[in-house]
Amino acid sequence: MTKYLAKIGLEMHCEISKTKSKVFSSAPNTYSDEPNSCVQPLDMGFPGTLPVVNKEAVRLALMASMITNCTQPEYIWFERKNYYYPDLPKGYQITQETKPIPVGIYGYVDYEYKGEMKRVRINNIHLEEDSASLDHYETTSTIDYNRSGVPLLELVTEPDFHSGEEAMAFLEHMRSVYQYAGISDADTKKGQVRCDVNVSIMDASLDENDPENWGTKVEMKNVNSFGGVRDAINYEIERQLELKENGTYDEMPQQTRRWDEDTFSTIYMRSKVDALDYKYFVEPNIPKFKVTETWLKEIRKDIPKLASERKQTYINEYQLSEYDANVLIKEKAISDYFEECIRLGIEAKAAANWVTVTIVGELNKVDLSIEDFYLTPNYLKQITDAIKEGSISSKQAKEIFYKACEEKKEPKSYMSKDNAQISDKEELLKIITAILEANTSQIEQYKNGKTNLFDYFVGQVMKETRGKANPVMTKEILMEELAKR
Ligand code: ADP
Ligand code: MG
Repeated sequence: MTKYLAKIGLEMHCEISKTKSKVFSSAPNTYSDEPNSCVQPLDMGFPGTLPVVNKEAVRLALMASMITNCTQPEYIWFERKNYYYPDLPKGYQITQETKPIPVGIYGYVDYEYKGEMKRVRINNIHLEEDSASLDHYETTSTIDYNRSGVPLLELVTEPDFHSGEEAMAFLEHMRSVYQYAGISDADTKKGQVRCDVNVSIMDASLDENDPENWGTKVEMKNVNSFGGVRDAINYEIERQLELKENGTYDEMPQQTRRWDEDTFSTIYMRSKVDALDYKYFVEPNIPKFKVTETWLKEIRKDIPKLASERKQTYINEYQLSEYDANVLIKEKAISDYFEECIRLGIEAKAAANWVTVTIVGELNKVDLSIEDFYLTPNYLKQITDAIKEGSISSKQAKEIFYKACEEKKEPKSYMSKDNAQISDKEELLKIITAILEANTSQIEQYKNGKTNLFDYFVGQVMKETRGKANPVMTKEILMEELAKR
């Protein structure tokens, strides 16, 4: 690869999942497994229906534009991108492309890759509507309009990436941005993030900042996982390198290919469709509207703390290690859980330990997300408070933690005097001594070889303590005491 340099540009589509309704209709913007359950006539392209712009979708799109350091427009327009496909009932998609600028242009994003900060230039970010989705069966296909009209953000980067791994690091960074900003859950499992990937290679000795030197780009549409993006890019680089080596690269037409997960390769689909073919024109049913300075200021003020800021707080204010801070911010829901612990007054170091080691471990083990985790920060506090008071040891705390998770009972219920296990050696010895003194004949039989009487003694202890004696300790003490007699 030293002779050549890969140039990679991404078009990242992310659904805005945090609005109540769709971008141009009042249908709920909720993810549903029940096909066609979140639909209004507009989403199915019925004649006579008219789009109404969702202000919250525009607000979140402008916020994304600010976070990606783009320039915001003075007026907002929408346009029609005309093409036919069964998942697009109107025969056009309402989007933003050419008029005068979309929700953002010419920004940049800094992201971390292998411990180094990298910068990718953003060409533009625009707001559009998602299409319906198709399900294919053996002999039929069905259309689900739930996705039709869901607000979609498209972020277009300049071709500043040089490897699949770099592109993937950027996508993970953007997912975190969308989640922390409250714009989207950016859940790839729900198909909320999809990418078009553009790849070309050029001679490494030439200036990569001059587009004249770039090779012919190959586009791969709708790659729907980050790992898929990385693999598709790396496969395509290898494929193009081979063309370079056998001297046919320059004959390669600009084309669209498809990433095929099953064969782990890209497959030719069609030669490139030009913007001209879409016959863009201004959407006549949505008048242009002004974006006021006051509104922009408000939106900027409302940008929530993003992951990197929280990380700084964890390190500087809570004195956590960089490693722990990274584990905590990786998923917003985990970071939220941690911050709730702090808000409740759990000491930061203790909270970080519980969350990064015990809780993350437990969640991985049972394959659960923290939102569905039984042991809320309030419950965790019952445990950490008890440790602080000295009423339980840290070993007992762990036991109580796992028991509470398993039996879905609040930790306190394992700590009250009535329910607590008797694990105090002195106390157990007193009980056991009394029982042995009352059972001298059984001891004699036991000594004479009736060893199964051991269980009888254990049973007596359990009866006396109503099952609360620590069974392991009980057996140990019994062994010792019987041996003495
Ligand atoms: P089009 O007009 O064909 O849609 P754009 O100029 O809008 O092309 O670019 C679309 C995407 O392709 C952008 O992400 C851009 O960075 C990327 N891109 C453009 N030229 C190249 C190239 N030569 N190699 C790799 N990616 C490219
Ligand atoms: Mg384009």
